[in-house]
Amino acid sequence: MLALTHARLIDGTGAPPRDEATVVIAEGRIHSIGEPPPADARVIDLAGRTLLPGLIDAHVHLSSLALPQPEMQSRNLTPDLQAYGLRYVSRQMLEAGLTTVRDAGSYGRSLFTLRQAIGLGLCEGPRLVLCGQIVAATSPGARAFAGMYREADGPDDMRKAVREQIRQGADFIKIMATGALTVPDEDINPAQMTLEEVRAIVDEAHRMGFKVASHAEGLDGIKLSVEAGVDTLEHGEMGYRDPQVLEAMAEKGVILVPTLCVFEAVANAKASFPQWMLDQAKRLGESALKTVGAARKAGVMMAMGADAGPHGENARELVKMVEAGLSPMEGILAATHIAARACGLEHEIGAVAVGWAADLLVIDGDPLQDVRLFTQSERRWLVIQGGKVVAGRAMRPNL
Ligand SMILES: [Zn+2]
Repeated sequence: MLALTHARLIDGTGAPPRDEATVVIAEGRIHSIGEPPPADARVIDLAGRTLLPGLIDAHVHLSSLALPQPEMQSRNLTPDLQAYGLRYVSRQMLEAGLTTVRDAGSYGRSLFTLRQAIGLGLCEGPRLVLCGQIVAATSPGARAFAGMYREADGPDDMRKAVREQIRQGADFIKIMATGALTVPDEDINPAQMTLEEVRAIVDEAHRMGFKVASHAEGLDGIKLSVEAGVDTLEHGEMGYRDPQVLEAMAEKGVILVPTLCVFEAVANAKASFPQWMLDQAKRLGESALKTVGAARKAGVMMAMGADAGPHGENARELVKMVEAGLSPMEGILAATHIAARACGLEHEIGAVAVGWAADLLVIDGDPLQDVRLFTQSERRWLVIQGGKVVAGRAMRPNL
């Protein structure tokens, strides 16, 4: 048993913080909150520190690696080397306090293999919520990201594509309702799928017990996705132009993952993209900020998703969401409870609650006073996954 004492507790439910909290962990789960530590428990005193659920990123692309050195980008690595790249980025995620990530599209079966490797104890990484390949219409994006898409056309083929992802072990279905900002031959309008196609996907996925995440940047795709009943809307930057669609999202409980970091990442990647794309990213980024504000007003749930990386700097997205108008507590919820909902794991992770998995993060100081603390490695004091200490400054006291 492990007892964490004297913590300032932000439990991820939106409840006000509690001071002097004691949380006891047993067999990988939260055993008790607010009860004195059992005599045989190992005690860690968290005075001056804040205890929260481990962070959850609801939209990343782990197999895109997003390593700092350009020569280490995944397309430049041999398959053997890519495995080491994945091992590296998954460790970076843990170091950053992320105990779960939802991957929104990966190359081949690389992440299913990574998950297997983590399960076998061959390497360490966050809990992985996977979609396998992205279900998309025949489109330029599938050429630009060869191996990451499963092209399909017509409702029956879409249904088959959904079944294929389930067959290979996916936890949810990701679709491209519109083109992507970073694909030269695509536009965010019109929608790339028909309403009939998206309906078939949602019907098949829901029938089998899987959620649907829809990449939808332009309004046509956003409206069609919400109408068809998707569970999460990815990017969604033009949503501010249609208050009714935001209201419908709030009413239906569709979660928006605004991925604010990706617009800035593209706008700043002068070496990788043509000028018109940098300009467009800047414009769409401004729209995304407006949409976060409008969505908040409309009561839409929002989850943190850093998308493009660099992996390990995901909490920058939380900071951006707060800069866009969320309160610090709302930002924390976006990175914990709401992100857990996006993963379909809200009864397992994303809150410090009795019976929940003991995936926890300890921050030096109070992130409600300054959410930038999440982005500072020296402030990440302890990362606990399944009741085990896996990362954090407390593990390297000499630094
Ligand atoms: Zn993405």
